[in-house]
Amino acid sequence: MVQVNDSYLRLKAGYLFPEIARRVKAFTEAHPEAAVIRLGIGDVTEPLPAACRQAMQQAIEAMGTREGFHGYGPEQGYAWLREAIARHDFQARGCDVSAEEIFVSDGSKCDSSNILDILGAGNRIAVTDPVYPVYVDSNVMAGRTGDADGGGRYGGLTYLPITAANGFVAPLPEEPVDLIYLCFPNNPTGAVATREQLKQWVDYALANNALILFDAAYEAFISDPELPHSIYEIEGARRCAIEFRSFSKNAGFTGTRCAFTVVPRGLTGTTAAGEPVELWGLWNRRQSTKFNGVSYIVQRGAEAVYSPEGQEQVRALIGFYMENAAIIRRELEAAGLQVYGGQQAPYVWIKTPEGLDSWGFFDHLLNQAHVVGTPGSGFGAAGEGYFRLSAFNSRANVDEAMRRIRAL
Ligand SMILES: *Cc1c(COP(=O)(O)O)cnc(C)c1O
Repeated sequence: MVQVNDSYLRLKAGYLFPEIARRVKAFTEAHPEAAVIRLGIGDVTEPLPAACRQAMQQAIEAMGTREGFHGYGPEQGYAWLREAIARHDFQARGCDVSAEEIFVSDGSKCDSSNILDILGAGNRIAVTDPVYPVYVDSNVMAGRTGDADGGGRYGGLTYLPITAANGFVAPLPEEPVDLIYLCFPNNPTGAVATREQLKQWVDYALANNALILFDAAYEAFISDPELPHSIYEIEGARRCAIEFRSFSKNAGFTGTRCAFTVVPRGLTGTTAAGEPVELWGLWNRRQSTKFNGVSYIVQRGAEAVYSPEGQEQVRALIGFYMENAAIIRRELEAAGLQVYGGQQAPYVWIKTPEGLDSWGFFDHLLNQAHVVGTPGSGFGAAGEGYFRLSAFNSRANVDEAMRRIRAL
């Protein structure tokens, strides 16, 4: 008899996005004339940078020649890409990260889930609430949690509420934890951590022999020069943190697929017997066994992000989305709403108006303005009373959506 992984049955039904789709469909069927604008998506909308496209075109041509053909590449990524990443993203910011510590992959969604392969089942895990759902669901699938309660919180996880009251920066856990997921700039709240706030977390992890899983997928949206882009800008982080990065949101690679994970040499966990083991070696082994690398063509495209033209084009893309975010912030504030985020991140996090919960505000915007956003409660119990709008859209859609909301 074939047994299934029972842990999958613990997952709450994928509720958020199917429920949004259901309500939008019901609305458009009842109002076929309404031009609905979707500001709920977490996907980029603008075309790939020219520098990346040109590099990929050249790579395709090379693949059509005997000399330029590439078969299987290194599972960890080509050395030229790993070196470009280490130099531009880390060494240029004063971070001691070398090319061999960079593992190129096809996505940080997969990496942040796959990392559980090399971590033991007994770890006590902390996540923020609200949270990027992948961190929680991958732990449920791996059998690292108990059942969900009525509020959707899983047994065995430590939830750290992030709300306006704490500036959307997770408080240190009151009970001991071994694994901590942090995401800055944050999806969904748009919050960003200061150097001091990250230092508190690094100090906590070092003092408690904990590991921080730091998701920096949105680091390119930081414009304040005082704010850290990488956890390795904090002293001691090499001994307690793994960082996830992606080309998805900075260079628009959501459909092209390229990302990377940083695992510092010398970062250790312990065996059941209490012996220290380097995580680098385990991740290297995991990737070599279960992963066969990102395509040569796509890695050439990612490398072009670091060329002078690529850097300029990525800056322009980010600037475009952040202007959208500024427009959303300005117009919503003018409409009398309390808004957070949207200054160092492409998400604006809105306090729902008096008398409306997250879904109530969703229905209000859909019915009255024909604008779709994402209810904060879908990202966790503490997201109730909040609402996310994304800056990933065309200027025309953002302008029109804001005009309609102002007119309410
Ligand atoms: C979009 C996003 C990513 C990037 O995922 P990829 O698999 O690299 O496309 C990672 N983390 C968060 C929180 C995101 O929102």
